[in-house]
Amino acid sequence: LRANFSAIQNEAGFVSGLITVLHDITEQEKIDMERREFVANVSHELRTPLTTMRSYLEALADGAWKDEQIAPQFLSVTQNETERMIRLVNDLLKLSKLDSKDGHLNKEMVNFTEFFQHIIDRFEMTKEQNVTFKRKLPKTELFVEIDEDKLTQVLYNIISNALKYSPEGGQITFRVKEFDERIEVSISDQGVGIPKENVKKIFERFYRVDKARSRKMGGTGLGLAIAKEMVELHGGRIWASSQEGKGTTIYFTLPYERTQEDEWS
Ligand code: ADP
Repeated sequence: LRANFSAIQNEAGFVSGLITVLHDITEQEKIDMERREFVANVSHELRTPLTTMRSYLEALADGAWKDEQIAPQFLSVTQNETERMIRLVNDLLKLSKLDSKDGHLNKEMVNFTEFFQHIIDRFEMTKEQNVTFKRKLPKTELFVEIDEDKLTQVLYNIISNALKYSPEGGQITFRVKEFDERIEVSISDQGVGIPKENVKKIFERFYRVDKARSRKMGGTGLGLAIAKEMVELHGGRIWASSQEGKGTTIYFTLPYERTQEDEWS
């Protein structure tokens, strides 16, 4: 224990302030530990592509550049690693913006159904996989106060994962449900799923169920951590449910006020 805690005694002489002091210390230690872990993770994530690039560049410098077959392959590896580092640094900048004051929201009243439709349309037009999209969205307008750019990022991160982990011929279902004080958005896929004990961890920074697989698919391990911070900034919640081999659903809520008019129409 630290020497700097002071016990608060009540009239009877019992110590009553100790617990709070101990709690503060462990809270601070937890923050320090998380910060150290984060820096270690970032360093590791950057070192991996850099050491890969170094060895490929060394091989090229040692003469591989003269080989018409090998040289383009080696250059393409270094290009991919550069792209990965750019994605990682961009994600880190997004997180650091969210942690700082720049993270404030630029909120506007938006018809969520329409906004969501546009985003799904964009994915449907550009997707390369053979995956079908199913929309279960309300026909009515649903006005919520959101930062469109941030919510676009949230949906982008969740939907790209659903596509990444979907099997050939799979289906992705998009749902919006309306409750009195919130809307609940969900995106379900029929992909590999996540082992039960890991489901909660996927929102942690750098957590991946399968590191090698995520890396191969270009993941940074930060997508869902960014989504979580953005949803929570809006006053919502985010969680997942998943069954291994069957699929995954990511849910999030946004505060919403059902108006009288909506009820009667
Ligand atoms: P990544 O860049 O690795 O995709 P994310 O933060 O987006 O990072 O996701 C963290 C991890 O959660 C992923 O590496 C993967 O293991 C798991 N995951 C996320 N979405 C899905 C999904 N739809 N199906 C299966 N696993 C998923």
